[in-house]
Amino acid sequence: MTAPRRALVTGGSIAGLSAAYWLDRTGWDVTVLERSAGFRTGGQNVDVRGVAREVLDRMGLTEAIRSANTGETGTVIVDEQGDTIVRLPDDDSGEGATAELEVLRGDFADAIRQALPDRVRLVFDDAVIAVDEDGSDGRPVTVRTRSGATLQAELLVVAEGVRSSTRDLLFTVEPRRLGITMEFGTIPRIPSDDDTWRWYNAVEGRQVHLRPDNHGTTRAMLAYTNDDGEVPDRRDRYAGAGWQTDRVLDGFEQSDDVYVDDLTQIHAPSWHRGSVVLLGDAAWCVTPMGGGGSSLALTAGYVLAASLADESDTTAALGAFEAWMRPLVDRIQTMPSGIKHFAYPQTKLGLAAQRAAHHVLTSRPVAPLMARLTHTADSDQPLPALEPTR
Ligand SMILES: Cc1cc2nc3c(=O)[nH]c(=O)nc-3n(C[C@H](O)[C@H](O)[C@H](O)COP(=O)(O)OP(=O)(O)OC[C@H]3O[C@@H](n4cnc5c(N)ncnc54)[C@H](O)[C@@H]3O)c2cc1C
Repeated sequence: MTAPRRALVTGGSIAGLSAAYWLDRTGWDVTVLERSAGFRTGGQNVDVRGVAREVLDRMGLTEAIRSANTGETGTVIVDEQGDTIVRLPDDDSGEGATAELEVLRGDFADAIRQALPDRVRLVFDDAVIAVDEDGSDGRPVTVRTRSGATLQAELLVVAEGVRSSTRDLLFTVEPRRLGITMEFGTIPRIPSDDDTWRWYNAVEGRQVHLRPDNHGTTRAMLAYTNDDGEVPDRRDRYAGAGWQTDRVLDGFEQSDDVYVDDLTQIHAPSWHRGSVVLLGDAAWCVTPMGGGGSSLALTAGYVLAASLADESDTTAALGAFEAWMRPLVDRIQTMPSGIKHFAYPQTKLGLAAQRAAHHVLTSRPVAPLMARLTHTADSDQPLPALEPTR
């Protein structure tokens, strides 16, 4: 019997865990290296849509994710008083702003982690510091880590998120800032919080969002235009914004999980080189403005393992993986022109125009345009076949 091929996956979030799951099912010996000291459970609402639903099904995880559902029932845009201006369209496929499978990122990642068999090794508090690809140690990739370990593998999967350091050692990518910062955090739930995603727009390019969760708390987000990329004092940036802004600002001061993201798309001419492949946000971050990043990450783990199972030449397999994923990513990364101005009005006039437009955009003939704000990671191509070997 030949020894199983070894895969080293760096990054223990949705992309890395999905890759670990599917590579293991197709016979690889898998180690996951995660930089943080423990499993990261943080993060706010993400959704599973489009072709990722099929991958989730094939993992037997649909019911686990459904039972971890945040309970969100729809999305409304509200005014200063909290009154509904417009309800975003829900449609039968569950692909409105609120999807059928809404889950907290940490619950999603944990469901995949729990599906991993014990033979998949999860190593925390360590990270790659050097990669050698000359094959001189007998396997195509040798990695040195900051703890002093040396690991050899047939495949290195870099799934370290948008600011991946191992990617930056090996690939040239073009990060494109979108000029928007989002701050996510958990705040105490109050009796008037309901089961809808409430979305408030204020002048000077500021949004405030409140969303329900299934943990007895409320998930808040501040999203604002930010051309220079410096994170401002949020009290200054939100002065006079109105609605429930002060509650969110107070809540974030008490919260220990505020996650700040200067939205940056990653564009890379290629996602693979030799026996190294980039996966998830490290390869193609679409940002929450594009949407669907977690669904893409989940799907990518499956497509990678299927491509490698189908083709023994690693470079050819990684090429097939990339060919399958590219159209999905390109579609999501291409934003309709003017969307930032529309979504983040700066002036009272702009805000009034946005409110008027919402009524038109959510009306039946143009609803598909609105739905473009909540892209799905969908594909016209069927998922590649994958026969699990264990
Ligand atoms: C704690 C956390 C909270 C998040 N919250 C939100 C949110 O509220 N809303 C939202 O839209 N998206 C959020 N995201 C991003 C979201 O998970 C991703 O956009 C999407 O799911 C794609 O996931 P990914 O696995 O490619 O990357 P990520 O989810 O970013 O995961 C990357 C993983 O790699 C690890 N890592 C980074 N560098 C290294 C390294 N050098 N070596 C080893 N490991 C490394 C990170 O610790 C992380 O676990 C969050 C991510 C994290 C990690």
